[in-house]
Amino acid sequence: MSSVAFDHVWRRFGPHAAVADLCLDIADGDFLVLLGASGCGKTTSLRMLAGLEEPSEGDIRIDGRVVNHVPPGERDVAMVFQSYALFPHMTVEGNLAFGPRMRRENKTQTREKLAEVASMLGLTPLLSRRPAELSGGQRQRVALGRALLREPKLFLMDEPLSNLDAALRGQMRSEIVALHRRLRITTVYVTHDQVEAMTMATHIAVMFEGRLHQAGSPAAVFDDPSDLRVARFIGAPRMNIVPGKILRAGNDVFLGCLGTHLALGAGLTTATANETPVQVGFRPSDLSFKPPIAGTAGFAGVVEFLEPMGSETFVTLRCGSEAIVARAPGRAPLTIGETVTLYPDCDFLYAFDSTGGQSLINRSRLGQTALAARRIPV
Ligand code: ATP
Repeated sequence: MSSVAFDHVWRRFGPHAAVADLCLDIADGDFLVLLGASGCGKTTSLRMLAGLEEPSEGDIRIDGRVVNHVPPGERDVAMVFQSYALFPHMTVEGNLAFGPRMRRENKTQTREKLAEVASMLGLTPLLSRRPAELSGGQRQRVALGRALLREPKLFLMDEPLSNLDAALRGQMRSEIVALHRRLRITTVYVTHDQVEAMTMATHIAVMFEGRLHQAGSPAAVFDDPSDLRVARFIGAPRMNIVPGKILRAGNDVFLGCLGTHLALGAGLTTATANETPVQVGFRPSDLSFKPPIAGTAGFAGVVEFLEPMGSETFVTLRCGSEAIVARAPGRAPLTIGETVTLYPDCDFLYAFDSTGGQSLINRSRLGQTALAARRIPV
């Protein structure tokens, strides 16, 4: 097990910075997910940690030791790729035993370790098959097994599930999480899939265009996004964002938007001046169709589109020039063209700077119990 630190790390390709000034601490035993859209620098960061790429500037540390010039083979890391990278002419057993054989490890110990890893990953009945005779999930398990046999200090995974269908992806997600809980090997996992990030990570680092925007627990990134881009990237359907302004009346603060004034919850504060234009945000899961408390302000919308998902329905409403998405529990008894009133949860209102996009709301006063009690929909 190991800790990792990126200390002002840059990676330039010509004039282009694939990774810009990355500062990130990963604690021993963490499952850190590097999350972001394609091209944001996730893989480059992972490759630098693996030693496959050198930083142009800054230091990478493993267990406090700068490893910038340490070759990959001496870093004690194991990497799992999207493409599995198995030898097609070898059996599962051959693929698993290849690394230990190349490292000239003791044959009896290798046999024992291999049997243990194969059993842990459900590969024992498949040991004599070749990769072509395996499903995608089974192939990825072989790739994981091969990495596990190294007993690495660090596990690095680059979109390992993206070649699998949705059902198998879900199953492999749980298997990898269970494996991590059992072995506690510090893991850095790259994905653009926020559901993977939310369900697997102990910590998430969200990147855009080479820059780290926010790092924190899944709940922190979901409930308290540092800026508009993180807010929009995390959560499906996406957070609703509408233009508005901060309105102050004595000690009370309101967000003026959609023709109404939404009062900030008691746990939220902002230092932003009266009448400042902002981008107001609220998540589809934080809208209700009934006032939570009598007198709560809401806004009207015309039902435009219904997406029944079985246990919930996503409702698209037209509110003036804005399209708003709300989550209704069950099979919402709504009809297209109907006008309804929506009430945002005042504890989970957001306001972002209308130019830079930084969050303008401080929610440190929002009780930990209130945050912990919140179900995170993924
Ligand atoms: P994806 O999810 O598509 O793999 P990513 O977030 O992992 O994307 P990177 O692969 O790290 O992104 O790439 C970051 C940026 O650096 C991209 O703009 C990419 O084109 C560029 N880049 C990566 N490797 C090289 C290279 N060897 N030479 C030039 N540019 C590169």
